[in-house]
Amino acid sequence: LYVEHPLGVGQSVPLDRGQAHYLFGVMRQSLGAHLLLFNGTDGEWRAEVVEAGKRGGVLRCVEQTKPLQLPPDLWLCFAPIKKARTDFIVEKATEMGAARIVPMQTEFTNSGRIQRDRLQAHAVEAAEQCGGTCVPEVVDLVRFRSLMDTWDSTRRIMFCDEALATAAPALLQGAVGPWAIFIGPEGGFSAREREKLNGLEYAGAVSLGPRILRADTAAVAAMTVWQQTCGD
Ligand code: SAM
Repeated sequence: LYVEHPLGVGQSVPLDRGQAHYLFGVMRQSLGAHLLLFNGTDGEWRAEVVEAGKRGGVLRCVEQTKPLQLPPDLWLCFAPIKKARTDFIVEKATEMGAARIVPMQTEFTNSGRIQRDRLQAHAVEAAEQCGGTCVPEVVDLVRFRSLMDTWDSTRRIMFCDEALATAAPALLQGAVGPWAIFIGPEGGFSAREREKLNGLEYAGAVSLGPRILRADTAAVAAMTVWQQTCGD
């Protein structure tokens, strides 16, 4: 369970109404039950339910079960597509260990806005499900141009380009990160955006194979390749 509260030996952790409903109403936990908590900074802790009510409750930390495991410094920058597919991308990026998820508005992005809080909640759920000790930060929708104008050139870009034949590991092997993966929308990156990315010395275009993948498939494929080559 993700909580926004410090964790440590004997630490009491108050539960809000939503958490109490989930734990005691949905998951049928009761006084004395033990569960695992994380908050993104203190690792994972086993905690006991010491108060249980409909409107709240209290857990008490017993022992640390995992140290904090920071994900590699990888960003996933993608153009939001349909709601369910965007949710899928956030969920899979969390499972695959992204540190930051950046929805970006490109020329051919159809969705002009996102619900950042909802996507962040998806990331929390995915981190809970996969036993992570951190939750990636989902940032607000940012325009491709503003993102590029403020880009820190020490972060290399793995630009996924379906029009290219260079296999991804050739770019990644031996190159020092941190990294960001760029995935375009259904219509792909525009000619102008491709030109911009291709002109950056810290960006490299890579192929994920000979077929055109849907953006959500491409995001998972790209992160898998990245994890296999540079991840830990
Ligand atoms: N513009 C394309 C078209 O309609 O022919 C489709 C774009 S594809 C659905 C969405 C994004 O997934 C692309 O912008 C690219 O970033 C990524 N992608 C899909 N297939 C890929 C591949 N084989 N290699 C690298 N990237 C790929």
